[in-house]
Amino acid sequence: MLTLARPTQRLRFEDYVAHAATGGLRLTERRRDVLRLIWNAARPIGAYEIAEQLGRNGASAHPAIVYRCLHRLAEAGLIIPILSWKRHVIAPVPAVGRWGVLLCSTCRACTPVDLGREHQLLIQRLRTAGWTPRIWSAEAEGLCCACREDAPCA
Ligand SMILES: [Zn+2]
Repeated sequence: MLTLARPTQRLRFEDYVAHAATGGLRLTERRRDVLRLIWNAARPIGAYEIAEQLGRNGASAHPAIVYRCLHRLAEAGLIIPILSWKRHVIAPVPAVGRWGVLLCSTCRACTPVDLGREHQLLIQRLRTAGWTPRIWSAEAEGLCCACREDAPCA
């Protein structure tokens, strides 16, 4: 069964910092700044927007540096990359497993879905086929229940 992340489960920024330390990720000042921007963002945010915001805060960073930060933060399970939108969102629970995302094409809502078990099954099948994925993503773009007229939210 898929598990949707609930907004009420939002963790404190310090919880992400603690998880980074536990997982062995050194949170440099730049990585911490990028993580905080994503944690504070009300919607998925891209590397160029992050670079602009860092510049406004006096900590300018070239987008290539931001991309490296994003890569490390995603590897550590702190953020979720949204490949089709070229943006990132905070992981509701760090390193809980592998997240999929439900993306609303109308209101741009992004709902993470815990795919830990399903991800393991997929990896097993890929290994059976002799395939090792370098990048993995599960994204479903469509309409959220708030944007659907035929089946509004329960
Ligand atoms: Zn929507």
